[in-house]
Amino acid sequence: METKGDIRAVEGLLVAADSPAGRAAAAINDLTMHLPTPAEPGVCPTCVGRFWPCRYFDDAAYRVHTARLRVGDVVPLGLHPRLWPPATPPGPSPGEEHDHG
Ligand SMILES: [Zn+2]
Repeated sequence: METKGDIRAVEGLLVAADSPAGRAAAAINDLTMHLPTPAEPGVCPTCVGRFWPCRYFDDAAYRVHTARLRVGDVVPLGLHPRLWPPATPPGPSPGEEHDHG
């Protein structure tokens, strides 16, 4: 069975219920249900007609965050730039300095 684009493949796993991931399991499930498909990264397939990230995703991400997990660990890498656009650093970044002398 091979699907391309329409459905995002998911992984089932077991975690200890009293671990941080176990406590956040419901939030992770909710978050995953509201991930966009690879074909349409700007649309939530669960909230029909909603742009992604939808409010349910945001809510689930907040719950994952408050469980002291990193939201980025349960979001596909390809979606990271959409959630966390590369920001221009406020000050001069190290490595930009030119060493004269
Ligand atoms: Zn949604």
